[in-house]
Amino acid sequence: MTATVSLRDELVDLLQRLIRLDTVNPPGNETAAAELLREYLGDNGVACELYARVPERANLVARIRGHAGGARLLLLSHTDTVLADAAEWQLDPWSGELRDGEVWGRGALDMKGQVAASAVTIASLAREGFEPAGDLIFAACADEEVGAGFGLQWLCEEHPETVEAEYSLNEGAGDRLELGGRVFYVCGVAEKMSSPFRLRVHGRSGHASMPAIADNSLVKAARLVQRLGAFAPEPRLEPEVVAFLEAVAGSVPDPSGALEAARALDPLAAEVIEPLLALTVSPTMIQASHKRNVIPAVCDVTVDCRLLPGQTQAEAERIVRAQLGEDDYELEWLEAHGGTRSPLETPLWEAVSSFVADCEPGATAVPVIVPGFTDSHWVRDRFGTVAYGFFPLRAMEPETAARLIHSADERVRVDDLELGARFLRHAATSVGDPAASNA
Ligand SMILES: [Zn+2]
Repeated sequence: MTATVSLRDELVDLLQRLIRLDTVNPPGNETAAAELLREYLGDNGVACELYARVPERANLVARIRGHAGGARLLLLSHTDTVLADAAEWQLDPWSGELRDGEVWGRGALDMKGQVAASAVTIASLAREGFEPAGDLIFAACADEEVGAGFGLQWLCEEHPETVEAEYSLNEGAGDRLELGGRVFYVCGVAEKMSSPFRLRVHGRSGHASMPAIADNSLVKAARLVQRLGAFAPEPRLEPEVVAFLEAVAGSVPDPSGALEAARALDPLAAEVIEPLLALTVSPTMIQASHKRNVIPAVCDVTVDCRLLPGQTQAEAERIVRAQLGEDDYELEWLEAHGGTRSPLETPLWEAVSSFVADCEPGATAVPVIVPGFTDSHWVRDRFGTVAYGFFPLRAMEPETAARLIHSADERVRVDDLELGARFLRHAATSVGDPAASNA
């Protein structure tokens, strides 16, 4: 009992100290967080090292060496946050105040809470003399929110040996959902690819007082935007969605009936799978004339587009062009990030599902594709790491958490911090060590 209480206090204290360091990215200044963690881990006898492309943006990697050449487990996290407008908040975003069982502040959910839980996991195991079969690694990385090449991407390129692992746990999922009267915890095993494109529409400029003599590219773009707004691509069932539907609904419908079947079970189930059935397009930015009285010759529409894992831009382009029809535009892909997946039947999945079954009787772990993307794709791409996004949230409603992330009044329940640390300790002591998981 005493041990549990102190773990809880240790988590709160470390999270409060992390929140009080402003690591809004840009500029980041993650070295402040890395140094705090180095001091905390050093006090607990955990070896760690800072790696930085520039001095003020350090990544921390800590490690308990494995003794039997077993599989390595990497606890992945990021220490930077998005910005916060203090005027919108009820409390100072960098106060780290503990109020009514919740720690308040920017990053509490995304993701200094999980940083603290990961650090306390490795520190508490080190104190107990834990000897893993394979290395237990904790990485607190810079620059996840912007991705300008100072964080995990850079570590994978410049110091790959520090973060190479067979298994990894990161942010991305862990919500507790009640669907059709049963309880499920979602685990992110794959991610959609962020693959925005730009439509460039050409016309002919002219004086705005005489529209007939010009060809207004903005007006032409409007009909393309409307077609994108009406986009309803043919659904298909990825293996993760099949597994989700099997667990939740007990059967797998045809792709065309999947959304309705999920809705019949629970509207929330439909909400979860809807973005996972096909690529999505959201036009978000438009640029045309810079002068009110000049009809624009060129109009650019930027479209946020998310592909299914494994889907190629060439395939997506055929689908998008079919929707846009014959018209006068150029389509240019701007970038491509993520879109990776990890297999489902692994010792790491076993650790997630056994923890869920144990922490809440009757509850089941189910896989999902994360509609956004996280740093997990760097290690999946580089090392073939089995990387899942899972940090269980039980005390806080998923709708509440979704509303607070990247928004005002972000906070985490201490009960959830403790649950998360318990999960990470469970994973660390079972993955890569079959004897422990059978014990
Ligand atoms: Zn995050």
